[in-house]
Amino acid sequence: MTAAHEAIHAMLRNLCRTAGAVAWGVADAQPTDEADAALYASWLSRGMHGPLAYMERHPELRRDPRLLLDGARSVLVCAFSARQRVHSPHIADFALGSDYHDVLRARMRAVGQGISDALGGDTRVCVDSAPLRERYWAVRAGVGRTGRNGRLMVPGIGSDVLLAVLLTQAQLPPSTPLQPAAMPECRTCRRCVDACPAGALDGRGGVDARRCLACLTIELRGPLPEGTDLHGRLAGCDICARVCPAAEACRPPLPLPELQPRPQVLAMTPARAAELTQAEFSAIFAGSPVKRLKLDGLQRNARAITQQKPKTQQQ
Ligand code: SF4
Ligand code: SF4
Repeated sequence: MTAAHEAIHAMLRNLCRTAGAVAWGVADAQPTDEADAALYASWLSRGMHGPLAYMERHPELRRDPRLLLDGARSVLVCAFSARQRVHSPHIADFALGSDYHDVLRARMRAVGQGISDALGGDTRVCVDSAPLRERYWAVRAGVGRTGRNGRLMVPGIGSDVLLAVLLTQAQLPPSTPLQPAAMPECRTCRRCVDACPAGALDGRGGVDARRCLACLTIELRGPLPEGTDLHGRLAGCDICARVCPAAEACRPPLPLPELQPRPQVLAMTPARAAELTQAEFSAIFAGSPVKRLKLDGLQRNARAITQQKPKTQQQ
C-alpha cells in the first residue's frame, strides 16, 4: 500500500468508526459480475422475491452503481450492529429502536462529507433506498461473506448487521474480498436452516421471500396468503441471525444508541397490537421502522397470530 493509500485508509477508518460502523470496506464502482447477475436473474425468474416486487425494477441500475451516481468511482460499505442484548419474540431486533434508514443515512452523510472535504467529488448515500445490491457490494468490499442464512456474515461480528452504502466520485483504495477460509462457520453448520420456522432457507444462501416472515410481515401489502402462520412475528424476523453460532462466539457490539430498544416496543405483544388505537400506534412507533407498516399492517399481523389456533386444535 502506498503512503497516499495508507493516509486515505486511516481517514476512512476514522470516519467510519466515528459514524459507529463495526466493519467497513471499499470496492471499485463497476458493473456487478456476470455470475452474480445470472444468479440474481434466476432467483427472480423462480419468483423467489415474492412480495418484493421492487426487486424486479431498474435492473440496469442494479447492475451498475455508476448509474446511481454519475462518475462514481468507489463504493464504501459500512456495517452497523443490529444485535440487541434483549430481544422480543415478536419484533426483530432492528425494529425495536428508531428507524435505521434515518439513523444510518445521517451518519453516512457525515462520512460522505468527510470524504468530499478531503478528496473532493460528490457522494450518494443508499440505505435500502436505491436499486443497489448492498450485500453483493459488502462481499466485494471485503466486509463479510454470505452465510447459509442468506445474510452477510461479518468476521467477529456475526450476521446481525445493517448495511449502509456510500457511492463516491473519489477514488478510494479498494479492500480485498475475504477468502473462503476466513469464514469457515457454515461448512459444518445448518443451524439457521433448521431454525427457520417458515422453511424459507434453501441451505445454499438462498431465501424464499414468499415464505420468509421478515418479508411477509413487513413488505407484503394487503392480506396475508391463506393459511400463513406468522409464528408469532409481528414485525420482521431475525431467528436465522440470532441462532448463528458465529455471533454467539464473538458477542457483537451493541447497536447505536438510537437503535436500542424502546421499552414500549420491546413489550408489544400481538394481543396488545390488535387493540391499539391510531393515536397509540402513532405515539409508540413514531420514528420507528414499524411505522412503515402502518396500523393496518401491524394489526393484520396481530390478528393472524391471535386467531391462529394452536396446532393441536387444528387437527
Ligand atoms: S447458523 Fe450456521 S449455517 Fe447458518 S449462517 Fe450461521 S454458521 Fe452458517
Ligand atoms: S428471517 Fe425468519 S423466516 Fe426469514 S429466513 Fe430468517 S428465520 Fe426464516
